[in-house]
Amino acid sequence: MVLGAPEIAVPQRRRGTNLPKMGDFNQAVILDSIRRSEEGLSRVELAASAGLAAQTVSNICRRLLDSGLIVEAGKETSGPGKPRTILRLNPRGMYAVGVHIDPALTNYALLDAVGTVLESVVEPTDLDSAPAVAVAAMGARIRAMIDASGIEEHRIAGVGVATPGPVDAASGTVVDPPHMTGWTRVPLRDILMETTGLPVVMDKDVTASAVAELWAGPACDTSDFVYVYVGTGIGAGLVLNDTVVRGASGNVGEIGHIITDPDGPECDCGRRGCVKVTSMPETLAAAAREAGVLPPVDPASTTQLMDDMTALAEAAADGNEAAAAILAQSARRMAGAVSVLTNLLDVSRVVFGGPFWPALAPTHLAQIPPLLERLSVTSSVHSVDVAGTVVNSGEEAFGAACLVMEKTFSPNAAQLLLDSKH
Ligand SMILES: [Zn+2]
Repeated sequence: MVLGAPEIAVPQRRRGTNLPKMGDFNQAVILDSIRRSEEGLSRVELAASAGLAAQTVSNICRRLLDSGLIVEAGKETSGPGKPRTILRLNPRGMYAVGVHIDPALTNYALLDAVGTVLESVVEPTDLDSAPAVAVAAMGARIRAMIDASGIEEHRIAGVGVATPGPVDAASGTVVDPPHMTGWTRVPLRDILMETTGLPVVMDKDVTASAVAELWAGPACDTSDFVYVYVGTGIGAGLVLNDTVVRGASGNVGEIGHIITDPDGPECDCGRRGCVKVTSMPETLAAAAREAGVLPPVDPASTTQLMDDMTALAEAAADGNEAAAAILAQSARRMAGAVSVLTNLLDVSRVVFGGPFWPALAPTHLAQIPPLLERLSVTSSVHSVDVAGTVVNSGEEAFGAACLVMEKTFSPNAAQLLLDSKH
């Protein structure tokens, strides 16, 4: 597509999948089954688990072996008959680059096919240059990372970008995110495609975090969960029935204006007590400062908010009652907002993450589960598990790279329909 060219509006109808695409679908099912099994699988096991004919599985495995995406990893003897060859994902068969853009920092990571981070870099986000120039520089940084790695070009599956919302998913555009002045409709995806020469997938940061959790989190019987991201603001990512929900424009999960306390502080939407205001780290730090828990603001500090949250958590852990009360109130408000989501969607798991989560984790993990239990309308049917993310703070680019993994491995019919439009 030419930069800036207007999209032609065509009525979208659900389209079927043609036969070659169906082959791709079966291939994705096979690849996903192999990826999910820790010990690897034999062709016989694959045929049984995927419900495909032995010949079809054999043909697909041949293709995957030829392309280097999977490898034969020894033989397994179980009972009579000839030993079965075990197939595993080849860690060096495919690589992905992730970029996580935040108003303060931009993280880059290079992952192999099994999700090992081979290389990662953090740089301050350039908000001084024109956005197009700053994004082109990100493209150059990605290219440099790939070139230095010595990985063959055709093994790089693509670049995944996680960005603050709102986004326009159809055009791969960032639309005026908070704290990023001048980033009004930046064609992020097109600029990165042009500067890296690689396929680029883009999502809102919270959605990328949910994808990472789905990919690297504990294997559960049911993959239905809400991912609550605690950054400068509060957002949510949704995974229902093993599928990441993105919404009409890629902006699902804008939970900031769920009211948690009608008498709480005023929000920019004109109402009071929205979770965005009551639970954002800035509000907690201000309350802690007012209560004398935190020292005055240090004008020279560039990490004030993070330092404040760490100090607040430490004070609560050391028995400071005012600090504990502030965090307890925040946990109550957060539980109120989250219960709206868990009740609406009937999910049984909530995962928290984001840069400020580590400071909140001790109090929130202790206090939110019983609160949610009380607020859940389905508590007699199922419990709601509460957990912290498996992705460490500072490794957010991992989630961005997982967007590429999702695109490559996920046997998701909706994804196929999406692809068939191109
Ligand atoms: Zn509001």
